[in-house]
Amino acid sequence: MIPKECKRLAEVDFPIAVVSKHAAREKSIRHGHPSTLHLWWARRPLAACRAMLLGLLLPDPCDPYCPGDFKKEARRILLDMNGHPRGWERDIQSDEGLRKILLKFIGDFSDWDNSANPVYLDVGRGLVKAAHPEETPLVVDPFAGGGSIPLEALRLGCEAFASDLNPVACLILKVMLEDIPRHGSELAEELRHVGAEIKKEAEKELAEFYPKDPGGATPIAYLWARTVNCESPNCGAEIPLMRSFWLCKKANRRRALRHKVLRMEGDLPRVEFEIFEPESEKEIPGGTVSRARATCLCCGAVLSPERVRAQLSEQRGGADTVFDGNGKRIGGARLLAVVTLRPGETGRHYRLPTSSDYQAVWKAQKRLQEILDAWVREGRKGLCPVPDEPLPPIGTLGFRVQRYGMLKWGDLFTTRQKLSLATIGRCAHRENVSDSIV
Ligand SMILES: [Zn+2]
Repeated sequence: MIPKECKRLAEVDFPIAVVSKHAAREKSIRHGHPSTLHLWWARRPLAACRAMLLGLLLPDPCDPYCPGDFKKEARRILLDMNGHPRGWERDIQSDEGLRKILLKFIGDFSDWDNSANPVYLDVGRGLVKAAHPEETPLVVDPFAGGGSIPLEALRLGCEAFASDLNPVACLILKVMLEDIPRHGSELAEELRHVGAEIKKEAEKELAEFYPKDPGGATPIAYLWARTVNCESPNCGAEIPLMRSFWLCKKANRRRALRHKVLRMEGDLPRVEFEIFEPESEKEIPGGTVSRARATCLCCGAVLSPERVRAQLSEQRGGADTVFDGNGKRIGGARLLAVVTLRPGETGRHYRLPTSSDYQAVWKAQKRLQEILDAWVREGRKGLCPVPDEPLPPIGTLGFRVQRYGMLKWGDLFTTRQKLSLATIGRCAHRENVSDSIV
């Protein structure tokens, strides 16, 4: 056992330049890196965790309290390492030399390319075992987040305990530290299979709510604007809240919206859009909303932030279109443009919305209502198909939407998004993952 008085290697030296270099490089690795499993904030580079753990688990060979057995075993393991540099035989004999070689090994092992190399794994684990011959060290990380530290602890042959307050972090930890090591490629294969099944089923169920264009083009994005009404006397026009009129700024595919105002006898003034190819930035007016104020496109009046908030609150944030009984849009969110892909053509196309775009949304609203009604009829079993839990209270860091009338988690999505999420959730639930994995 390492005596309490003995300093750990990391307390006296650390190969910081090499480890930093490998940690920086690791950020650009996408394929096969655990960070691609799920997004997580402030993920620690595995390189730094691996190196720091080794530095903390190993004693400093120059410390007078460093166990002689560790130094003897460490020398044997390092000299047995395949392809070790010439000169190690000579340098390793002194304690200073052993320290230097341990630091060199820690630096080289932090390279992502060596992280699964059996030679490095054996030496790394061998050194940890040499430092802790009586029992396997336990690495505890109570706020493990993305799990870099416990993952590296397992790699070094330690036992690991990881926890977190956030349930998403817990799920990442469970999959990365338990499920993947236990089931490996079998799990990946099963996930691919089940994922494809869920996609197929959900696409079938949702097809009528995401119709293809008559010409065969597939809409890939719907560009919406929330709307408020101008409160200036004699106007009352609808103001679509838009930060910008640009649709695409790519040099060879510049597209933007421009508007004209229609004034019909006995009706409120109305804004109509068209899509055009601007020659220069100057042709594009500024958006209608800036610093929470909205500017009317018909009369130029400005609606104060308080009034914008009040109007959007009445629409629960305003993400949804309001229809009359016949499916005609009478307010709420307005479609500005639809982005499509055409078969056999590259690049995106932009078109104005049509009544069938709105029809699909209207149908989605009716379908979601049926799902919710059925849930109520059946005694509200389990979770509501649309998340109805309240958002955190006003003032919670990162949540500023409550002032706009979005008070429940479900208010963050449009009806069609809610229907899609509920459908994917239901398909996932139905799909039976084989018992061996669960
Ligand atoms: Zn106006």
